[in-house]
Amino acid sequence: MFDNLSERLERSFKILKGEGKITEINVAETLKDVRRALLDADVNYKVAKSFTDTVKEKALGQNVLTAVKPSQLMVKIVHDELTKLMGGDTAEIELKNRPAVILMSGLQGSGKTTFSGKLARMLKTKKNRKPLLVACDVYRPAAIEQLKVLGQQVEVPVYCEMDSKDPVQIALHAIQEAKAKGYDLVIVDTAGRLAIDEQMMNEIEAIKNAINPDETLFVVDAMTGQDAVNTAREFNERLDFNGVVLTKLDGDTRGGAALSIRTVVNKPIKFVGTGEKLDAVDQFHPARMADRILG
Ligand code: GDP
Repeated sequence: MFDNLSERLERSFKILKGEGKITEINVAETLKDVRRALLDADVNYKVAKSFTDTVKEKALGQNVLTAVKPSQLMVKIVHDELTKLMGGDTAEIELKNRPAVILMSGLQGSGKTTFSGKLARMLKTKKNRKPLLVACDVYRPAAIEQLKVLGQQVEVPVYCEMDSKDPVQIALHAIQEAKAKGYDLVIVDTAGRLAIDEQMMNEIEAIKNAINPDETLFVVDAMTGQDAVNTAREFNERLDFNGVVLTKLDGDTRGGAALSIRTVVNKPIKFVGTGEKLDAVDQFHPARMADRILG
């Protein structure tokens, strides 16, 4: 479905080689291919443009014009720059307090509740944590039920107050409960809306201010492409979150949203969701994502 960028570059440089010397204009032409590939991968236009400008400088600096295999050098430069832009190394979550508190934010349907279950399971099995999940969606009883089901599946208790309409109090009570019962990790799942609205933003901001989490994570569906960037920007302005969770990477997407979000909000992507099952989660690896974007 997608054209592979490495093959594209190989092709255009082959044509160039037939013509003799490679010039700066030729490099500019091939950069257009890079940009097109990024746009195909759903990278935001401005991000793609500034990225190819950087690559051009690098390419000319590294003498791509006289390289034996210019296409390979070019692909390497593009890959390295993509990796660097997405943070270089894997970004860890920082859990300092006891109990440590993680707050989930994001739109409805982004995968927040599923990821809360996945993260509880992951930190329980891999980091020996004792988590408590918290249901703070006071609008949709079904959301509380969903978290309870997930909690059962990963064998982590779920704190909820079915009659309460005050998510700030629920979150605070849950932390008290965790302290009293010896849980060392509290994962707070919050309500989402189909689109950003003021009430939702006020609510999650109030929760954040009240519980002062170790990590505030913004969960976003990678399939939403360009919209993901705008949503990330708005949530970041209100919450100043610590990291991004990119879900549904098992779907039909190149994951260009990863590059756009990282560039626009300048916050690391920390996890990726790769399926509906509870073990379908991984830390984010910038170099692997660069491979995926390039195809
Ligand atoms: P929330 O409204 O943000 O809490 O979103 P949910 O956790 O309810 O997820 C919405 C839908 O996306 C559900 O059907 C999930 O099974 C599905 N989902 C969540 N994460 C992933 C993922 O990484 N891959 C896929 N394919 N589906 C996912």
